[in-house]
Amino acid sequence: MRGDYECDLLIRGASVFDGTGAAPVTCDVAVAEDRIVAVGAALTLSAHDEVQADGLALAPGFIDVHTHDDLAAMSLDTSLPKLSQGVTTVVTGNCGISLGPTPLGRRDTVVPPLDLIATKDEYRYATFGDFLSAVRGIGPALNVVPLVGHTVLRARAVDDLSGPATEEEVAAMRQDLVAALDQGAAGLSTGLAYPPAKAATTEEVLALVREVATAGALWTTHMRDERTGVVSAVAETIDIARRSGARTLISHHKCCGEAAFGLSRTTLAMIEDARRDITLDIDVYPYTASSTVLIESFARDSRRVTVSWSDPHPEMAGRDLSEIAEIWGIPEMEALDRLRPGGAIYHQMDDGDLERILAWPPSLVGSDGLPRDRRPHPRLWGAFPRVLGHYVRERSLLNLSTAIAKMTGQTAAVLGLHDRGRITEGAAADLVLFDPALIRDAASFEDPARPAEGIVSVYLNGKLAYRPDAPGTTPCGTLLSRAP
Ligand SMILES: [Zn+2]
Repeated sequence: MRGDYECDLLIRGASVFDGTGAAPVTCDVAVAEDRIVAVGAALTLSAHDEVQADGLALAPGFIDVHTHDDLAAMSLDTSLPKLSQGVTTVVTGNCGISLGPTPLGRRDTVVPPLDLIATKDEYRYATFGDFLSAVRGIGPALNVVPLVGHTVLRARAVDDLSGPATEEEVAAMRQDLVAALDQGAAGLSTGLAYPPAKAATTEEVLALVREVATAGALWTTHMRDERTGVVSAVAETIDIARRSGARTLISHHKCCGEAAFGLSRTTLAMIEDARRDITLDIDVYPYTASSTVLIESFARDSRRVTVSWSDPHPEMAGRDLSEIAEIWGIPEMEALDRLRPGGAIYHQMDDGDLERILAWPPSLVGSDGLPRDRRPHPRLWGAFPRVLGHYVRERSLLNLSTAIAKMTGQTAAVLGLHDRGRITEGAAADLVLFDPALIRDAASFEDPARPAEGIVSVYLNGKLAYRPDAPGTTPCGTLLSRAP
């Protein structure tokens, strides 16, 4: 495509945020094929495409460190919520839930919360390697960093999910895990707050996380408790991280329910202290409402519960649980039961905790978006621009360079992605050009499927992947599995 030109793309005069947290520098960035080949003032290269970017910000493509996009990343239309925010890389397989290997076999139903990302028919990969081959074969629309989920391994190996695994069952999970890591999994995720994994003992988790450490991979955890028990859940996480030696990432750190408000003061102090001798990080999404499957204890702790999907009652998606209970003339918890299998949005956090966690220098930004929900939580379409618009520009909670680093360079370092998340010569050409004065999340709880405003263009591996007036037509992502 380049012909006689010296590079494919030359973006001129942008305010370049290099992803390290350093102040922006106005300069030019040149791309050839899938790499950044030059960064500097008034570059004299000739380019096939030249873009005048005066007044716009150029950042490395955002890395969504917490997603459930295992299936969504495989097609362009379901990747639009991410591309339209400037996200170019997603970490999949979080919260214990991954598309491979199939959780079916020992049981023939998909136990919640595994139904958050796929149906029974879609859980069709016998091994984690089969899932990776499918991603590679199809050519994903985003770069994919794939984790394997503990709950999936548990569903395959454990007879009674409400109890601790036996020695043989732990051995079976270890075998599956080692195979997945050998095949290229970036790490293991756990979802210990969910019924099918709740009964896993610390020792069960430790046995698996030790394999993660041996492989030099990453452990991410949706901790056992994010309510009043969050302090002891953090203590357990630190204990497992320390005893295993695995690089550890606490997922979507938060304090849910009024009784837990303010506990982030304690948890962040514990994490900061632990970081002196272990590798421990956290991610956060910029909203005070969570979203997952319908669970009674979550609903009881919430100011407001909005149904995001329901298999038996799809017509109720978007309505509040209280309203549905009133329509049906039954108590809310009975209505919740009748709506299952289904999901909900739980308004249950405090701004103070959220801002404290988001402003804490090491925290990373993730969306935790649920791409299959009929009425998704707005984080699916809005998480990254919400940080840049609301928390940077409107609230001045953090400056733009710092916020961008939490979505790019800092994240790449935690993930061990050595050539992403930075604007520097030789790095992968994942780039987002946006207007810092206009960027904002348009997705709201009332109208959640709205693309962000202020994003000008998104380049993925050197190719134009998104413009508001011209969503991409070719998948440009790649699988970022660990070298087997
Ligand atoms: Zn989670």
